[in-house]
Amino acid sequence: MSQYVGKLKNSKTGEDVEIYQGFSWPCLFFGVLWFLAKGMILWAVISFIIVLVTGGIAWLFLPFFSNNLHYQAAIKGGFTEVIEGDDQMFEDTKDLNIQSVNVSLESCPFCNSNIHGGVKFCPKCGKLLEPIRCSNCNSSNPITNEFCQNCGNQLKV
Ligand SMILES: [Zn+2]
Ligand SMILES: [Zn+2]
Repeated sequence: MSQYVGKLKNSKTGEDVEIYQGFSWPCLFFGVLWFLAKGMILWAVISFIIVLVTGGIAWLFLPFFSNNLHYQAAIKGGFTEVIEGDDQMFEDTKDLNIQSVNVSLESCPFCNSNIHGGVKFCPKCGKLLEPIRCSNCNSSNPITNEFCQNCGNQLKV
């Protein structure tokens, strides 16, 4: 049986979509219509062709993947905001929005001299090259920041 995971919202259009995981009985019963109902025209066509080619056998396997396909299609369609359900399930989509500040540097952003990774201070100008931790909110900031991007606190190097 499919398990209800939660709802995703499209912040541009305001639409929401329910996400399930596991074997999809509705997909097994309604076939191509299931994909059409979910707005997955491309997959409706693809699945129809696969089923034709395999003489109908693929239809027994597609419901195992259809919920996952639906989830992927929703993400591609701009549904990103979780409005209901288990946050853990959507963890991988959230990660895309988090900017990594721990980029390994190849040159010093202050004096432009070449650096061989993993050094804490620039050997040429002596500036700190590690992400700066804010003394106020403890968040990590890019080394070129003068103020904390999270709370606005002045960063001391
Ligand atoms: Zn430098
Ligand atoms: Zn801060």
